[in-house]
Amino acid sequence: MRVEQTRTLKAKLFNPNARKEELLNRSFRAYQQALKDGVERGIETMTDANDLVVQYDLSGYMKNALKKHIPKVVKNGGKDVGEDNALKITNEGVNFDYQQDNHHKFYINLPSTWQRGGYWCPIEIIPNQESFYHKLLYKYINLGEVQVIRKDNEFYVHIVVKYEIEVRNPSECTTQVGLDVGDNTLVAGCSYDGVEPMRGEIWSGNECKRLRKEWHTVKKRLQSRGSEKILNDIGDNIWNRIDDIIHKTTREIVEYVKQFDEPVIVMEDLKYIREKMNYGKYMNARLHSWAFRKLQKQIEYKAVGEGIPVVYVNPKNTSKECHHCGQKGIRKGNLFRCTNDGCPIAEYHADLSASISIAKRGRESPLKKTEGDDLTSHGARLTVPQDSTSEVTHTDEEVSYAS
Ligand SMILES: [Zn+2]
Repeated sequence: MRVEQTRTLKAKLFNPNARKEELLNRSFRAYQQALKDGVERGIETMTDANDLVVQYDLSGYMKNALKKHIPKVVKNGGKDVGEDNALKITNEGVNFDYQQDNHHKFYINLPSTWQRGGYWCPIEIIPNQESFYHKLLYKYINLGEVQVIRKDNEFYVHIVVKYEIEVRNPSECTTQVGLDVGDNTLVAGCSYDGVEPMRGEIWSGNECKRLRKEWHTVKKRLQSRGSEKILNDIGDNIWNRIDDIIHKTTREIVEYVKQFDEPVIVMEDLKYIREKMNYGKYMNARLHSWAFRKLQKQIEYKAVGEGIPVVYVNPKNTSKECHHCGQKGIRKGNLFRCTNDGCPIAEYHADLSASISIAKRGRESPLKKTEGDDLTSHGARLTVPQDSTSEVTHTDEEVSYAS
């Protein structure tokens, strides 16, 4: 089946000269003023936004992007109107070029109302995204919205690209790989090919847990002193570290899944996943469900990017039932004990056992569409959620997910 994927390429405008910088800054000023005015007037429709933006000295491509953006920001309660906001441009207004002999091989053409035909800027790209630019130039993939971001007197571009990839139909897959996203164990994975479970693997949740505990402690201490600013900074830092763990782990997981023959990833439907959460002493519910969701979403995104389909199953009792005989057993910490005398499973790692049950469910139960999600088991779209930050760094090859 064909699945549409969206990816954000991030690049830096390389040393724009004074003239180009001035053109950019002028566009930013006009764009932000228009956005601010639109929000202040509470404009909620594209028609009204259109009437507003035509009054500003902006490229038509920026106006077009802005008239879609203003109603969204207004409906969102007026958030997102800062000095360093992104400058959005519709795809028709942006072009790319490739100069093989130059140090910076890729160039972007940005529109400007003050310069006919816009102006070209070399861009510093993220090396492992190079193939996307070649595909863009040859129109193998489609360009979506482009944003220019101004940060610390540097300019960056976020380039959305859309393309279809071939993902194996889940019903044609021979190996189900069950992934149990959890607490003690961040993720437990095991494959099932209809005969026996194989190559189980565990990704520890210790580091995430330690960070949550740290957050809990810090929060308690600082809240009592009323140091909200420090608290927020520390919170950001902790969340970023958890973010890094999630990125690293999900990359490893997709590599792990790729070793199997015609794999399909099976995970538990998020709709029910709250039931199995163990709200322990250091639990921060928001942080926790955020991490759960993010883990699953990133596994899904990365897997589909590799042509591996993902399906979801009902998680009811996956951690209570024996993966072999299906009887309810006893779970103590990380250990599952099967109470069925006739079953060869005496004791088993509880999360691994759950991942096998999940894999089996993915094989035996009809595949179902997951809640509020764009990926269905029968050919559908998968889009990347919006960036949670507009920060660009050159090592940042991943798209951040907001939730
Ligand atoms: Zn059993």
